[in-house]
Amino acid sequence: MENNTVAKKLDGLLKLQEIDSKLDEIRKIRGDLPEEVQDLEDEIEGYKTRAGKFQKELTELKAFIKNEEEAIKEHQKIIKKYEEQQLDVRNNREYEALVREVENKELDIKLSQKSIRETVIKVERKEAQIEEIQVVLKDREEDLESKRAELDKIIAENEDVENKLRKEREKRKKGVEERLYKAYNKLRLNARNGLAIVHVKRDACGGCFNIVPPQRQVDIKERKKIVICEHCGRILADVEEHIKPEKKRTVRKKRTTRKKKEEEETAN
Ligand SMILES: [Zn+2]
Repeated sequence: MENNTVAKKLDGLLKLQEIDSKLDEIRKIRGDLPEEVQDLEDEIEGYKTRAGKFQKELTELKAFIKNEEEAIKEHQKIIKKYEEQQLDVRNNREYEALVREVENKELDIKLSQKSIRETVIKVERKEAQIEEIQVVLKDREEDLESKRAELDKIIAENEDVENKLRKEREKRKKGVEERLYKAYNKLRLNARNGLAIVHVKRDACGGCFNIVPPQRQVDIKERKKIVICEHCGRILADVEEHIKPEKKRTVRKKRTTRKKKEEEETAN
């Protein structure tokens, strides 16, 4: 009974590992694409925010210029009025007073003109900045579009297989006791190749390739207790000569090969 239980636990974990490794491979095809897409989306959002801020500043600058232009027109109207009044003054004092008023208004006009000149330079600078952002934005948006299309294509290609694997995983997970499942997940998280449970192959741990002593191999073969690798802590499920060839898992890198493999598996 005890023997049967441990062997069952190991087989349950092995099945889970098999599913997880397939999911890992699907994730590997996506590579850095999901992160790259996310980064581009964030970057574009940032540029859009900045462009919006500049656009608002530009509107304010233009409104300021318009205001100053209106003020100049007002000053000119008043000057015209003063000049008309100069024609029918009663004395020199009144005339001098109007001359001073005109001079004041002319000074106001000069100040407004100076403000406008300065603001025009600011407007030009702001417009150039906005233009620059638009160029970068266009470039990033094109980049995002192509990356997103590529990612969508990869996701679509594997969608069915992935959904099937996820469903199967949920089912298999229920058969593994919680303590063991947690340990398995922790091991997977720490292992670069995602392998938490491995076989002994050619006297070595299938995860870290360190030698497994013969006595330990005997224990592993018996499957009466859960044996872990002394070096990497991975669970050692069995010794290779006990495994039927079709259970052997090979890591294939080429997508075409994997696709073929998936088709075969779907067919089985
Ligand atoms: Zn190991």
